[in-house]
Amino acid sequence: MANWSVLGSGITGLCIATALCEHGEKVEVIEAPHIQAASYFAGGMLAPFCEGESAPDIVVQNGQLSVDWWDKHIVNVKHTGTLVIAPARDVSELKRFANMTINHEWVEPELIEPDLESRFSQGLFFPTEAFIDPRLALQELKQNLRDQNVHFHTGSPLGKVIDCTGMAAKRKLKNLRSVRGEMVIFENHDVKFSRPIRLLHPRFPCYLVPRANGRFMVGATMVESSDDGPISVRALIEMLSSAYTIHPAFAEAKILETGIGLRPSFPNNVPQIIEKDNQFYVNGMYRHGFLLAPVLAIQFIEKFLG
Ligand SMILES: Cc1cc2nc3c(=O)[nH]c(=O)nc-3n(C[C@H](O)[C@H](O)[C@H](O)COP(=O)(O)OP(=O)(O)OC[C@H]3O[C@@H](n4cnc5c(N)ncnc54)[C@H](O)[C@@H]3O)c2cc1C
Repeated sequence: MANWSVLGSGITGLCIATALCEHGEKVEVIEAPHIQAASYFAGGMLAPFCEGESAPDIVVQNGQLSVDWWDKHIVNVKHTGTLVIAPARDVSELKRFANMTINHEWVEPELIEPDLESRFSQGLFFPTEAFIDPRLALQELKQNLRDQNVHFHTGSPLGKVIDCTGMAAKRKLKNLRSVRGEMVIFENHDVKFSRPIRLLHPRFPCYLVPRANGRFMVGATMVESSDDGPISVRALIEMLSSAYTIHPAFAEAKILETGIGLRPSFPNNVPQIIEKDNQFYVNGMYRHGFLLAPVLAIQFIEKFLG
C-alpha cells in the first residue's frame, strides 16, 4: 500500500513521485484528467542563464542542477544551447539582455543557426543551456514510474498527501496566482533550427522552440490573469509576427495548435514546499516548472526524508 499520495501528474507531481520512488518509498499518483496541466503547454526550455534576465539568483543556481537531473531521467535532452537575437532596431535590447545575464558569448547568429542567413547581425549564445520536448518528457517520467509499479488513479488518497495540483490548489494556498501563457504550434519543413531562439522586443519578447517532424512551438505571453479561455487575437498576431521576423518562410507554416496554460505563481515567483494542515504542497513553479521541479523534488526528500 502506498504511504505517499502525490496529487497531480503535471511536471511537479511527476518529479516528486520520481524522487520518492528513488528514495524507496511506496507512492501513488492521483490524477484529475479533466483539469489540463500547465505543463502540457510549456516550451521545455532548460535555460537558467537566459531566465536570469528577470529571475532571482536562486532560480539561476537551482536551474543549473536540473539539467543533470533531466539527463539521468529521460533520453532526449538536447544540449544545443540557446540563441538570443533581436531585429536591428532593437539591438539595445540585446545589450541590455547581455548585461543582465551570464555564461553567454556574442556570435554571428547565422554561424549558430545557418537558416537565419544574414538577417540578424548580432546574437548572444548561451552554450550550456538545454531543452526537452515537455510532452514526451511527461510521458517518459510517467512510464518510468509505472515501470516501478506506481499506481496512477483518480480515487481517494491512501498515503500522506503531497498536493502538486498547480492552480487547483488556489483554494488552499491563498497567495497563489495564475500567470496566463499562450502558445502556438506550427509545422514548416523549409526551415531547420536546432535550438530555442529567443527574439527580444521591448514589449513582446518571444521564443521559438524546435520540435520533431518540422514542428515549432512559439511562446509565450505573460498575462496576470486567471482567464483560461482560448488564445487572444493579439497574442496570436504578436507570436506569429515574431516567428515571421525570425524567418519569413514561416508565413507558409501550417498552424496545428494554439493553447494556453495558467502558470501557478507565488508573489515572488519562486516555488515553495509548504507543510500545512497535515499535508504538503509543492507549488508556485511560475515559468520554471521544467527548470525547477526536479530541484524542489530533491529538496523535499532532503528536508522530510533525508
Ligand atoms: C506557454 C507556457 C510555456 C512555458 N514554458 C516553460 C519552459 O520553457 N520551461 C519551464 O521550465 N517552464 C515553462 N513553463 C512553466 C511550466 O509549464 C509550469 O511552471 C509548470 O507546468 C507547473 O507545473 P505543475 O505540475 O506545478 O502544475 P500543472 O502542470 O498545472 O499540473 C497540475 C496537475 O494537477 C492536476 N490536478 C488538479 N486538481 C487535481 C486534483 N484535485 N487531484 C489530482 N490532480 C489534480 C491537473 O490535472 C494537472 O495535471 C511554461 C508555461 C506555459 C503556460
